[in-house]
Amino acid sequence: MNITSRDAWGARSPKNIPQTVDPSQRRYLVIHHSGGPVGQSVRAIQDWCMDGRGFNDIDYNLLVRASTGEIYMGRGWNVVGSHAVDFNTNGIGVCVIGNNAPLSDQAKRALAWIRDEANRRCGRMLHVRGHGQLTGTTDCPGSVLRTFITAGMPAPTQPEDSDMEWTDKPWSSASPISAADALQQASRADDALKEVQELRGIVDALRDDIAAIKAAVVGTTPPNG
Ligand SMILES: [Zn+2]
Repeated sequence: MNITSRDAWGARSPKNIPQTVDPSQRRYLVIHHSGGPVGQSVRAIQDWCMDGRGFNDIDYNLLVRASTGEIYMGRGWNVVGSHAVDFNTNGIGVCVIGNNAPLSDQAKRALAWIRDEANRRCGRMLHVRGHGQLTGTTDCPGSVLRTFITAGMPAPTQPEDSDMEWTDKPWSSASPISAADALQQASRADDALKEVQELRGIVDALRDDIAAIKAAVVGTTPPNG
């Protein structure tokens, strides 16, 4: 996935040296909207954060434009943000540019990719939450994003590349699995394995009991084991 660099969007330097955080400390992916026009420049958002709000840099770690799905580097993956009180160190803040704007398929795919990439970088499944769901003090990120988040950020699959139309193999119809889904399935498989092992232990214990009962009935000593 392509991320527009800070240089490319004309970022100002942070006022002070950015404070970083180890990815293992992250627990949340916090989704915001900018509350401004969907075409607003990232630089204008940064100016508001730095001059209007007086913060060190643009508030967010990453940004996504609701209309085009373009991803912009904000503070960066491993920098403490200024997007949600109490969630700036343990949360990665993503701002969707727009004011409750409809999400294009590209924007949905971009957000799902950010979630998967953040999970990969942090080595865990982050809790995906809208700003107001965590702090209760704001309508941010608006109803469109709240619905999208609550539904588990379903991203429509990429339109098929016309160069690939010749292929009609069964494998091509299999839907791609996201890293998050793979992690979830792996953890479910792990749980199932543990249950089987527990059941196996119970069966073994019952077998021993039965052997003991049989031994008692015929009046011999049960074998150890
Ligand atoms: Zn917000």
